Amino acid sequence: MKKVKINFYELLNFTKRSDIEKANRVKLLIEEVVNNPKFRDEILKANFKDRRFRNEDQTIVTIDDNKEILNRLISGKEQFRDEDADYEWDFRISLYRSITGEVGKRKKESVLTKKKKFRQRSDRTIAAHWIHEYIHVIGFTHDFKRTEIRPHSVPYLVGSIAKEILKAE
Ligand SMILES: [Zn+2]
Repeated sequence: MKKVKINFYELLNFTKRSDIEKANRVKLLIEEVVNNPKFRDEILKANFKDRRFRNEDQTIVTIDDNKEILNRLISGKEQFRDEDADYEWDFRISLYRSITGEVGKRKKESVLTKKKKFRQRSDRTIAAHWIHEYIHVIGFTHDFKRTEIRPHSVPYLVGSIAKEILKAE
């Protein structure tokens, strides 16, 4: 299976040197996880109950084959960039300030992370969050309400698999 490379294409509002240092540690964790054979195995075996993939034109398809889900995940084909599969995860990350409760979110090809959470949370937690948001950048989606199937969507379930592997190592 192809080796995936992680790139920081853009880091916005990482104002302290320690922010950049943390981002670089998280990058290594992400690279370790996505290239871990166990991570890929778990995805192939996973029981996804929500397999929706949103195309750039907003049409939605369902991807029944886990192999195809894995292929899309590792392809590095970010949406809204006219990119082909290059097996490079190009991250565009902005830190932002807000009083709302979430750790972060995705906006088109960018991952947004709350600056306070970024600084408070562990490297592993931020790695799992960036993986989850990046899966949205690729095109997978989930319910935005807390439904029963949401934890079994591609972004959530793959995020959980990543978290487990990061804990084990
Ligand atoms: Zn999400």
